[in-house]
Amino acid sequence: MSHTYQFKYIIIGDAAVGKSCLMLNFIDKRFRAEHDLTIGVEFGSKIIDAEGIKIKLQIWDTAGSESFKSITRSYYRSAAGALLVYDITRKDSFNHLSEWLNEARFNGNPSMAITLVGNKYDLEDSRVISYEEGLRYAKDNNLGFLETSALSGHNVNQAFVDTAQAIIEKINSGT
Ligand code: GDP
Repeated sequence: MSHTYQFKYIIIGDAAVGKSCLMLNFIDKRFRAEHDLTIGVEFGSKIIDAEGIKIKLQIWDTAGSESFKSITRSYYRSAAGALLVYDITRKDSFNHLSEWLNEARFNGNPSMAITLVGNKYDLEDSRVISYEEGLRYAKDNNLGFLETSALSGHNVNQAFVDTAQAIIEKINSGT
């Protein structure tokens, strides 16, 4: 299948928020139940269709652990898009968003399209961050926003497609 665009994405956020599971769910619709601390960077690739435009996405799943940040930095530079992930059941992962955002904006392309992703939507009973809180943070920081579940697959594809559409809009508007 031929494609018109090729975009690089990074997935960032605290450890254990579900970054690897989101990538796995997106790439092969499979959920990995075991937690396996990501070491360094994992890579995946998939071609998507965003309103008739075929786009090849190359995705780097970065480690959430502080000790890997220096490795991760080199990946920010070439990324056109980012998924910034928190866990709706863990307040600390939400509180750390600004650190991740600063990291991405400082090290990355200033026009990078960033989508805020509140993951573990299926754990409604344990939710501590409301949808409205997530949305407000996204609006205040000029980010896209979705809640996802890497377990059920809810909104996973949409998160990647929305980011691609935001990149295309930036390209078309010359920003
Ligand atoms: P990462 O460190 O951010 O890459 O996180 P992982 O993808 O390794 O996931 C961390 C843990 O959360 C694992 O035990 C996963 O099984 C679990 N997990 C990830 N996404 C979801 C989700 O959407 N819902 C639920 N219930 N668990 C999830």
